[in-house]
Amino acid sequence: MESRYQGIAASPGITIGTAYLVGFPEFQIRKYRITEGGINKELDRWQAAVDATRHEIENIKRRVAQEVGFKEAEIFNAYLHVLQDPLLVQATMEQIRAQRCNAEYVLQEIASGLGRQFTEAKDEYLRERASDINDVVARLLRNLTGQAKRLLTGAEHDIIMIAKDLAPAQTASMRRERVVGFATDIGGKTSHAAIMARSLEIPAVVGLKNITDMVETGDTLIVDGSAGLVIVNADTRILTQYRQAQQRNLQASRKLRKLKGITAVSRDGYRLNVAANIEFPEDVRKARKYGAEGVGLFRTEFLYMNRRDLPSEDEQFEAYCQVARQSLPYSTIIRTMDLGGDKFLSRLGTSAETNPFLGLRAIRLCLTYIELFKTQLRAILRASQFGKIKIMFPLISDVEELRQAKAVLNEVRQELSRRRIAFDKHMETGLMIELPSAALTADVLAREADFFSIGTNDLIQYTMAVDRINEKVAYLYNPLHPAILRLIKKTIEAGHNERIWVGICGEMAADPQLTALLFGMGLDEFSTEPSFVPQIKKVIREIHLARSRELAEEVLACATTKEIENCLQNQIQDKEGCDEKAVK
Ligand code: PEP
Ligand code: MG
Repeated sequence: MESRYQGIAASPGITIGTAYLVGFPEFQIRKYRITEGGINKELDRWQAAVDATRHEIENIKRRVAQEVGFKEAEIFNAYLHVLQDPLLVQATMEQIRAQRCNAEYVLQEIASGLGRQFTEAKDEYLRERASDINDVVARLLRNLTGQAKRLLTGAEHDIIMIAKDLAPAQTASMRRERVVGFATDIGGKTSHAAIMARSLEIPAVVGLKNITDMVETGDTLIVDGSAGLVIVNADTRILTQYRQAQQRNLQASRKLRKLKGITAVSRDGYRLNVAANIEFPEDVRKARKYGAEGVGLFRTEFLYMNRRDLPSEDEQFEAYCQVARQSLPYSTIIRTMDLGGDKFLSRLGTSAETNPFLGLRAIRLCLTYIELFKTQLRAILRASQFGKIKIMFPLISDVEELRQAKAVLNEVRQELSRRRIAFDKHMETGLMIELPSAALTADVLAREADFFSIGTNDLIQYTMAVDRINEKVAYLYNPLHPAILRLIKKTIEAGHNERIWVGICGEMAADPQLTALLFGMGLDEFSTEPSFVPQIKKVIREIHLARSRELAEEVLACATTKEIENCLQNQIQDKEGCDEKAVK
């Protein structure tokens, strides 16, 4: 019987395959006694498993560094630390001696105690580490029980991995061509699994809550990573529909990739800049592959995550230089760190908040931890002479906050000038419009900024009072609510009145059904995940700005979301009608 589960869309695309549940249940651990004389042999067996596991992890780390990037490979240092942790390694040896029991039994006992401590830890970083421990222990168990060969590498079908939380080592050690999708109980768009899936361009859905209870190894799964949907054991009719959609997607993306060199010029000759959103410096390669015209949003907070220490000024400088250089001749918009909300940084020791999305997030956190902020600003300014860097501040709520952020930037500029360190004195300074309070005062903000970038992901969340990662209220999260479109329009008008350019970098920019509307509203730049760039350019080339303006006017006069949807639907049908006439 078919069942459907809705989660968080983590990596786009459709995939069909056989479920494989990752986790401990595959091990049948037997307890048996060791004789006094056999203890040294058991300790040797344990040591051999530790060595083999270390070897395995070092190999994966090397491979990930080559195939994905150095930053992702660093995640595996945490695994190597687990393997050196006396609470795991020494304790197992001591218990083998004390209990005179076999290594795998002792290990499993110790690991489940440790796992509990980590899962219940107050510290976010330690909680995240629980999945690292699970993965290392699973590897040790496989090596001890001789089940190492039962890994997916021998699988004959296309595999969809199902796990509570997917550890990056598990992702990376699977043969790329066999693993065609992921689905996990927990996690959001920024979880390890989501980041890895996007890097590898494999469809994935996360945050499904209990998918591990609903699926068994061997079930047939459809993972729709764009819709955040998992369908288990669908009937032949649904499978055929999704296979066809998958084929269409593949053909379309192959065709689209060929268009990477085109520019987004409308039929009546108006040009739009289409840039890319990136999370890691290595993503610039992907942005170029899809023909992005620069980086419209570099989410720098990822440089701070998944690590115990903070990135130094020099490390950040290198990262920003790399992106800025590789984006030339186009520009790179570096967004200052957007930590807080759902992206925590345990290193700062900030206390837990009841409503983190309404708390010490983004620019608020930067203006609280000024030295942390200044370090990032110094790195950005120093890098600004090696490319066309623009800086933008997230979550600005009013002009006073913008002034405070700019004052800190000016202090850093003066400090660098005093130290005779070069930087681009004309670097553009902009802000994200992602709070209703900013959109409603955009006329005031525009007088003191060089550009706006509309962050619709948050603008929708804060306007509609809908947590953007809570699937229970996802039905209210609608970009076509009249309030959202009016705030966008107001922002664009306010920016243009002050002669500054206005872009959009939220997920709305990636939806081709909304391209004409947003273009008609007057946006100057769209910035999206790299793989969406060709599609958006293609749509722009098929439309007229004049007609798009009329559409925008019609839509803005609508009273309800339903009316707006109908209006857009009619526009699509009109267009199809025109295309058919053109063919005849
Ligand atoms: C947004 O809010 O639309 C945005 C682009 O920023 P982020 O998704 O990183 O919050
Ligand atoms: Mg945002």
